[in-house]
Amino acid sequence: MKRRKKQQQRQRKIPYLVLILVFLAAVIIIKNNWLDELLAPVFHFMEAAGEPVNAQPSNSQDEKEPIAPETPPVPEPEEEPQPPEPAEEEPEADYLILVNKEIALPEDFVPPNLTIPNVRFSQEGRAEIKHLQAAAAQALEAMFAAAEEEGIILYAVSGYRSYALQKSVYNRHVQNSGQEYADRISARPGHSEHQTGLAMDITSKSVGFGLKTKFGETPEGQWVAENAHRFGFIIRYPKGKEDLTGYNYEPWHLRYVGREAAKTIYENDLILEEYLRQYVDPSV
Ligand SMILES: [Zn+2]
Repeated sequence: MKRRKKQQQRQRKIPYLVLILVFLAAVIIIKNNWLDELLAPVFHFMEAAGEPVNAQPSNSQDEKEPIAPETPPVPEPEEEPQPPEPAEEEPEADYLILVNKEIALPEDFVPPNLTIPNVRFSQEGRAEIKHLQAAAAQALEAMFAAAEEEGIILYAVSGYRSYALQKSVYNRHVQNSGQEYADRISARPGHSEHQTGLAMDITSKSVGFGLKTKFGETPEGQWVAENAHRFGFIIRYPKGKEDLTGYNYEPWHLRYVGREAAKTIYENDLILEEYLRQYVDPSV
């Protein structure tokens, strides 16, 4: 009897011992801040799983604030702003995309992030041709604003053109002027820079809002020739390079290439093909 009683007493004590051990373990873990380390992989997994679905910066900020005061997984919120950076760098390479008489875009090529720049346009009308890739649109807005501060009022005319639209534009030129002349002033479908969403034709009141060579001699045209590179644009078909570009001089046709390339092209009096060959890929 006595033995059984002792055994029962021992058995009763075991749950208490376990509880005490668990309590002690919990105290040690919390006191040493091990909880964060233990849970970190769980947090990390949850965030990693959520990131590709909603990579919105506002979301990460919402998460950052409640988490930060309690726990110190600070490195994780810091990691989050990183994904947009490579995403920005990828299109950066695309700003140097080469389209000319030899190199065409696929018929189904549609540029990313098309948006209508918030600038003056020479006319109302087709929304499609008002679009540019977002970075080029922002740069155009900055350039038009900077020009206006110096009393230079610029107007946008025509930006993005789909393959289909270019096809009808080119065919119209052929009908009106014959193929040889059409090829000097217009691109064949797939061969237009306007399909990249990085080119914008601009004009001014002083040339009647048209696309005319004499735009290059106006204060507006001269301001653009001297300043466009500061915003990442180049005069794609410059005077004196007609044999290299294959196009007549077009002081109105701006091509966005990013500020670094535009500066080098401007300072060294290059065309895009020469720049790419000398600075990017000798095989171009
Ligand atoms: Zn153009």
